[in-house]
Amino acid sequence: MPTHLHDLTFDELRALLTADGLKPAHAATLWNSLHFKADTDQLGRTDFLPPLRKWLEAHLGSDCQTDVLPIATQTPSSDGLTRKYLLKLHDSQEIETVIMGYTGRHTACISTQAGCAMGCVFCATGQMGFVRHLRPGEIVAQVHHARRVLREHGERLRNLVLMGMGEPLHNYDNVMKALGIISDTRGANIGPSKISISTVGVVPGILRMAEENSPYNLAVSLHGSTEAERAALIPANQRWPLSDLISACRTYSEKTDRKIFFAWTLIAGVNDTPDHAHRVATLLAGIQAHVNLIPLNETAGYEGRESAETAGDVFHRIIQDAGIPCTIRQRRGIDVAAGCGQLKAVRNRDKKAV
Ligand code: SF4
Repeated sequence: MPTHLHDLTFDELRALLTADGLKPAHAATLWNSLHFKADTDQLGRTDFLPPLRKWLEAHLGSDCQTDVLPIATQTPSSDGLTRKYLLKLHDSQEIETVIMGYTGRHTACISTQAGCAMGCVFCATGQMGFVRHLRPGEIVAQVHHARRVLREHGERLRNLVLMGMGEPLHNYDNVMKALGIISDTRGANIGPSKISISTVGVVPGILRMAEENSPYNLAVSLHGSTEAERAALIPANQRWPLSDLISACRTYSEKTDRKIFFAWTLIAGVNDTPDHAHRVATLLAGIQAHVNLIPLNETAGYEGRESAETAGDVFHRIIQDAGIPCTIRQRRGIDVAAGCGQLKAVRNRDKKAV
């Protein structure tokens, strides 16, 4: 099993190189290339000092590898603000990375697993099933990909959301290690306050974030206001019931003194009535919360339809009147199938059709 250099923290990289007789400065040079410059070819760097060059020539491609993920498919949206990439892993699995442009800032939405085990009914990734966890380097590599793309346009990546394929808290250790590397000020330097972890409600992961006082933002997908309603949309609710989830969120909120962002996908006639909104307001009372209402991304595998605008407006007003900040989110890049797992689903469908 080769050592994947992008999997390593700064200290681990330094330990690897100094164990082979190199100086700490060589590790700093290599780290700079891997994570600050996000170079794709360390062997091509003629400015590295001879000991580092020799070490790379001896190890890279044999017992050491880097994670530079080739593009399998890329799709710009007609609004020019969203670019969606299907990136290829070493074992030919494909994952999605999306760059979303807003006025003056860019956000990357990255994947944490190939496929997903959570099976949310409205989600194209959930409809595909679980393949495997991503290593830290495969998560980091998506960020570097986005940074390189933006750099070509004179732009900078400022925000990160872990909302692509996979459930981040189901791959907790690799995700947290990756985020440590991504937020390292000597590398990509994306501050923890600019990073959001989105979970479908993996209660042990939320409690661990609370225990560790994790510095990243937490977003929880709620979508249902009763146990039965939520279980019908999110099978994981059977394992971690709504009551346990709300209790874990309360613990997180109290321990970290941090706001939780609750996502609510509006589905016509399913969860978008005033009764639903009132129940959400009751559930979240006393939690530092912000509710994000998201129009449904319609997928071929789920018959649910997007709510009418008026239903969303009424829902929004009820939550706000209860004293909970609430936003109706812009939906980005629908025409590039930018809903979770949709580009991969479209590609699979096209492959079958050939
Ligand atoms: S919404 Fe997220 S957690 Fe649910 S199936 Fe899709 S990727 Fe997995």
